[in-house]
Amino acid sequence: MNRIEHQTPMSAPTAEKNPAHSVTPVKIKRLVSGLLSWFARHARDLPWRRTRDPYAIWVSEIMLQQTQVKTVLPYWERWMREVPTIESLAKARPEKIHKLWEGLGYYTRVRNLQQAARLIWEKHGGRFPDRFDEVLALPGIGRYTAGAICSIAFNQPTPILDGNVIRVLTRIFGIGGNPRDKNTNARLWQLAGELVLQATCPAPRTSHLTPRASRFNQSLMELGALVCTPRRPKCAVCPVKKFCVAFQENLIEELPNLGKRTTATHRRFHAYVVERRGKFLVRQRPAGVVNAHLWEFPNEEIDPDKVQVPNNARPFCTIKHSITRYRITLEAFVADAVSAKKCVNGDGRWLTLTELKKLSFPSAHKKILASLAGAR
Ligand code: SF4
Repeated sequence: MNRIEHQTPMSAPTAEKNPAHSVTPVKIKRLVSGLLSWFARHARDLPWRRTRDPYAIWVSEIMLQQTQVKTVLPYWERWMREVPTIESLAKARPEKIHKLWEGLGYYTRVRNLQQAARLIWEKHGGRFPDRFDEVLALPGIGRYTAGAICSIAFNQPTPILDGNVIRVLTRIFGIGGNPRDKNTNARLWQLAGELVLQATCPAPRTSHLTPRASRFNQSLMELGALVCTPRRPKCAVCPVKKFCVAFQENLIEELPNLGKRTTATHRRFHAYVVERRGKFLVRQRPAGVVNAHLWEFPNEEIDPDKVQVPNNARPFCTIKHSITRYRITLEAFVADAVSAKKCVNGDGRWLTLTELKKLSFPSAHKKILASLAGAR
């Protein structure tokens, strides 16, 4: 399947009116080679790009979900020092890997990583599988991540499609349908597949040893991260602008067509800092909820429209943060045990600051802990 047969481009009405933007095999070839040579010159030197170790690449891909490269860098370096192999991850204490993940959020990711490592250990003798279906069957690995691992680590022509790639492809090919719609999404996967397959066709004067599927997929990701950004893309320096329908047709603002944005919801919480003989009351979040197994100060959700100060409590600090569509305000109070105990259902623990620092907290509660430590 190395010929691209599309003669009409996608579903953007403007693109369809203009035959100059039809997708021809020649254009696809030039597009792929333009991206590959741009990537050779402009790729960032990221530590997980200096290896073909599927374990290291897998960890980077999971950390990079919903998280920026600059945030991930120190986490990845520390993780690879502390848990450098599948075996060490399979055998690590859950508290250790939670602590290493602390601050990255979406903690289901780290639990799935360990579950998958244990499965690889038991089912594949500790060797990371190199078949797409086997990679896809691992916990926490979806079609995108399986495609990324198989292409980057094993140079297989497996497509990838995440937010960055969707943005790049919808703009280049003038795809006007909503990428979440079944047909548009299938179309995008098909295109991503045809492109990476094209990349594996050896180009003249190119070594057969060049891992072109790996580089091509990374070039799509890199273009989305550095050039074809959500706002104000740098079209002037884009290596594929002459093939880009959005650029040619002035459709950049319209693509990708993500439909109506969900409106943000405000949520407000009170957290209680309670001290007794040098120890503080905390609780561990149960299994099956967001941030499961992490620790937190006793807290409760309150009516966001009512300004309330709890009885016998003194404001300590306020933390604002966002999780998906929620805008959260967490107000911490130095309070008596009565305010706090109603939130802990008997499962609270009294711990010293030194003990608390060894536990994993969600980011907002970690900030309360940092303020507490700074106030001492
Ligand atoms: Fe994105 Fe602009 Fe390049 Fe098109 S020309 S791919 S919109 S950066």
